[in-house]
Amino acid sequence: MNSLDNYKAIKAEVDKLKGKQNLIVVTKNQSIETILPIIKNGHLHFGENRVQEAKEKWIPVLKNYKDIKLHLIGKLQSNKAKDAFVLFDFIHTLDSDKLAKKFSELELNSERKIKYFIQINIGNEAQKNGIEYVRAKDFINLCKNDLKLNIIGLMCIPPINLDPHPFFEKMQQLKINNNLNDLSMGMSSDYNEALNFGSNYLRIGSAIFK
Ligand SMILES: *Cc1c(COP(=O)(O)O)cnc(C)c1O
Repeated sequence: MNSLDNYKAIKAEVDKLKGKQNLIVVTKNQSIETILPIIKNGHLHFGENRVQEAKEKWIPVLKNYKDIKLHLIGKLQSNKAKDAFVLFDFIHTLDSDKLAKKFSELELNSERKIKYFIQINIGNEAQKNGIEYVRAKDFINLCKNDLKLNIIGLMCIPPINLDPHPFFEKMQQLKINNNLNDLSMGMSSDYNEALNFGSNYLRIGSAIFK
């Protein structure tokens, strides 16, 4: 099957749930020619990992498709925050005080409001980005109450080669305990499991662009 057919199959699967699950088509490393059939089919939510790549790829497209929403799902350095702020509608990888303060400043000086997920290092892995589980509550409160950021939910990438179930479950509990609405969890290999734990933003790349 081609990527449009793969997309349609996954989209149908997600729509069948009749909930408010959002499918983010992850387009990192894909050319716009490859993505265009999915755009023309009316899809609106796309995810990218790198600010520079996203700028080059999406700014020309957004001129013609103004309803598209871009999601930053990769690590963000604070010196790229300004560029990210003007391009992306959702940031999934808020993971430091420095970055949160930077976005707070940007919002104070702009009409623009964007939506944020806080990334949680749910497996407590040394090499992974994200806020430590034990610091999550304090960081959520800092972002929401002090910095007035529109924190809609939590995001994680569970450890590879381990059953994601306990990590997704912990994330769902953390979301509930902190009165947040949304969860960004589930990639090509584990989105079915993520749905079982209330994920409503699925980030899917390789199952579409095989
Ligand atoms: C690449 C990536 C995805 C998509 O992963 P696939 O396995 O290709 O579906 C999702 N989330 C993040 C953070 C990614 O970097």
